[in-house]
Amino acid sequence: MSGTVALVTGASSGIGEAAALSLASRGAAVALAARRADRLATLAERIRADGGTALVVEADVTEQSAAVAAVHQTVSELGRLDTLVNNAGVMLLGPVVDAPVEEWQRMVSVNVMGLMYCAHAALPHLLAAAADGPRRVADMVNVSSVAGRVARNGSGVYNATKHAVGAFSEALRQEVTGRYVRVSLVEPGAVATELAGHNRPEILEGLNQRFADMQRLEAEDIADTITYIITRPRHVAVNELLVRPTQQQ
Ligand code: NDP
Repeated sequence: MSGTVALVTGASSGIGEAAALSLASRGAAVALAARRADRLATLAERIRADGGTALVVEADVTEQSAAVAAVHQTVSELGRLDTLVNNAGVMLLGPVVDAPVEEWQRMVSVNVMGLMYCAHAALPHLLAAAADGPRRVADMVNVSSVAGRVARNGSGVYNATKHAVGAFSEALRQEVTGRYVRVSLVEPGAVATELAGHNRPEILEGLNQRFADMQRLEAEDIADTITYIITRPRHVAVNELLVRPTQQQ
């Protein structure tokens, strides 16, 4: 991937952090976007210490202007944009009845609007990279979830946001694939990250019980999946990959 530039959202922890490390190890220059700039700075140092190129991009993707600025900073400092890993997300579970609606607003803002703002800002640069770049193909990998395929009692709004990511990705794929921008969807099952930790205590307890006896995926497992998609030859588009822990039903 040398000579290419990747922007990874949600790079301050979990899947985004692992994906950034994986892409950097394969020679991509990586722009690391999230709100926690201290975590991004630590990751950037680690990538640079291994001989890679990393740029810290402090951004709250729920602000359209921040998504535009993140893409602009990436292209102006790293020169181009070949890959967008649209990964930033939040998962706040629980019944619909009596739910704190603020949690729904956060999920829709990050998982749906944030992902679409980043896609919109990145697309002109991805199209340009596919037309004239070292690989003559560009990638947008949108991180959905098994929750984007199967709805569950207690996950209604998270399910809704991830189903939205699937619908948006498929429509966009049809729009730009003829111009060699590959739009791919990754749908992880349970991954051991910070994601669940933002839930209310009673919800978190239920989640911990549900997954107590299961070996969950590691963030690196999904980073591998993302890297596999991006490193396919130009004529191969992996449209969608659903990856569960073996024991997850
Ligand atoms: P983490 O909580 O470890 O990572 C989430 C990332 O999103 C963080 O880097 C966080 O950074 C970033 N983020 C959250 N809100 C914003 C915002 N407003 N602006 C910019 N960045 C933001 O969880 P995961 O790594 O597990 O999650 C990554 C993706 O994978 C999500 O889309 C999630 O839905 C999906 N997924 C995860 C699964 C799992 O079991 N873990 C299963 C299926 C899908 P910061 O707080 O610094 O802004």
